[in-house]
Amino acid sequence: MNDRYDVVVIGAGPAGLACALTLLDHGVRDVLVAEKYVFPRDKCCAGYITQKTVKVYREFGLDPADCGYTCIKDFRLFYGLSPRQYIDNRFLLTSREINRVALDDAFFRLAVSRGIEIAENMPLTAHDPDSKTVTLGAGENRTAVRYGSLVFADGTNGFGSRYQKAKRRNLAIQLRFPSDRPDGIEIHFGITERGYCWVSTSGGITNVGITDEYRKSTDYRAVFRKFLRDIGEDPDISGLYAAFTPIGVRRPVLPGDIYFAGDAMGACDPFTLSGLRNGLESGRKAAESIAKSDPSILRRYAGRLRSRFFFMRLLMKVFYLKPAKLFVFNVGCRCLRGVVRFFFDRFLNKK
Ligand SMILES: Cc1cc2nc3c(=O)[nH]c(=O)nc-3n(C[C@H](O)[C@H](O)[C@H](O)COP(=O)(O)OP(=O)(O)OC[C@H]3O[C@@H](n4cnc5c(N)ncnc54)[C@H](O)[C@@H]3O)c2cc1C
Repeated sequence: MNDRYDVVVIGAGPAGLACALTLLDHGVRDVLVAEKYVFPRDKCCAGYITQKTVKVYREFGLDPADCGYTCIKDFRLFYGLSPRQYIDNRFLLTSREINRVALDDAFFRLAVSRGIEIAENMPLTAHDPDSKTVTLGAGENRTAVRYGSLVFADGTNGFGSRYQKAKRRNLAIQLRFPSDRPDGIEIHFGITERGYCWVSTSGGITNVGITDEYRKSTDYRAVFRKFLRDIGEDPDISGLYAAFTPIGVRRPVLPGDIYFAGDAMGACDPFTLSGLRNGLESGRKAAESIAKSDPSILRRYAGRLRSRFFFMRLLMKVFYLKPAKLFVFNVGCRCLRGVVRFFFDRFLNKK
């Protein structure tokens, strides 16, 4: 590692790598990506992607089909534990393992093959904005690195989050375990107050997850355990994995050439929790801003996201009201199937 780089990117997730790859396309080569873990690394994520996300990955030169991604068959909506509607899914894809390990690892390898310098096992542990210096690693492994621009792409609760005022977050908990459930995906509404649950199976692996707008007073482990019991599963839950996703777009640029991308800038849909495509796009916009010395590129993108997410928040507020859910799942799913399907495809799936 050198002691100075034009750009230091914190985090080698989709947002960080999209940023580094775009910088390279714009001729900015003096870039270091610092990553806390060693790849392939696990990530608390179901890894569902839409056709639009596939398109963006392809623009970067990666085809998710090569990482085992296929369209989800047998897609059903539930209200509580009762099946309500079958969705003829053409938009949502999942990997064979129902996680993101292979996809993230393939993106990592692609970045390495293009010559991007990635320091693994090198978490950001200190930052001095005045001298534009970051400290990477811990103990004897600590290294101080100066930067021209810094990009925080280190997730919802990463180091960069200390520079943001984020009040609300979604909590997502998931567990993967072997099972003999048939392949398919169930989305259950009405189990958590302002979120949904998923049960997704592929080739003998099941991924069960719950999401909710986080409230300290709720015992989410108990909710999760009960949901598992209700769907007839009793797996070992020592591998339970929980993480936050942001609600609301955060400040994308700070004085001192500091940029944010992906979950670190709140680029994750608060309703669906889909953040991969926005992570890639925001990484790209952060890179364009840096390469063209024009922070307004990322600011404008953040503004567009803010409007989109404002609409999703409104939708959330209405949809998660009990009468609205009762109407959608009792009247809509029985009498207005086409409308429910259109809504589901247009607003949730096709993003
Ligand atoms: C349970 C769950 C399920 C989800 N399901 C989906 C889904 O199906 N589809 C979808 O599109 N989105 C989903 N999301 C959201 C999605 O995971 C995120 O939006 C996406 O990962 C954002 O990408 P990112 O690059 O910003 O952050 P991340 O993927 O979180 O990458 C951040 C990187 O930064 C590294 N890092 C963190 N701190 C430091 C540090 N101090 N120093 C160096 N490196 C650091 C981390 O190790 C990580 O590699 C889900 C989220 C959760 C929690």
